[in-house]
Amino acid sequence: MSRVRTRGTASEIAVRKELSKRGVRFRLNVPSLAGKPDVFVPRIQLAIFVNGCFWHGHGCKRATLPKTNHEFWASKIAANAARDRKQKKQLSNLGIRSLVIWTCRKSRLTALCEKIAREYHETPQRHGH
Ligand SMILES: [Zn+2]
Repeated sequence: MSRVRTRGTASEIAVRKELSKRGVRFRLNVPSLAGKPDVFVPRIQLAIFVNGCFWHGHGCKRATLPKTNHEFWASKIAANAARDRKQKKQLSNLGIRSLVIWTCRKSRLTALCEKIAREYHETPQRHGH
C-alpha cells in the first residue's frame, strides 16, 4: 500500500506540477521527516501533505464513515488524525510548517501553489545547509 502511495495521487502530482512550473524546488516523500511529507520545500521549511479526506478524517462530506463496521472505521480514522497531529507537532519543533491540502479542496490548489511560490521567491536561499 505504501508503495502505491509513493507513486503519487492525482492531487500530489498536480501540486508538484504547479510548484515546478513556478520554479519552486522541492523534495518528495522525505523519509527523515515525521509523516514523510508528500512535498517538502527546504528553502521555506514547508512540508506539504496531500490528504485524502476519508483516511485523514477531514470531517467533510467525503469523510463520511461507512454504516457497517462504523466503530472500526471511527477508531481507525481517529487514530490516523491523532498521528497527523503528532507529526505536525514534531515538524513544528524542527521549525517546519505543515500545510495540508485536502482532496476535497482541489480547486484551491493552484491558488495555494501560487502563494507558496511567492513566498519561495521572496525568501533568499539558505547556504551551508
Ligand atoms: Zn474534505
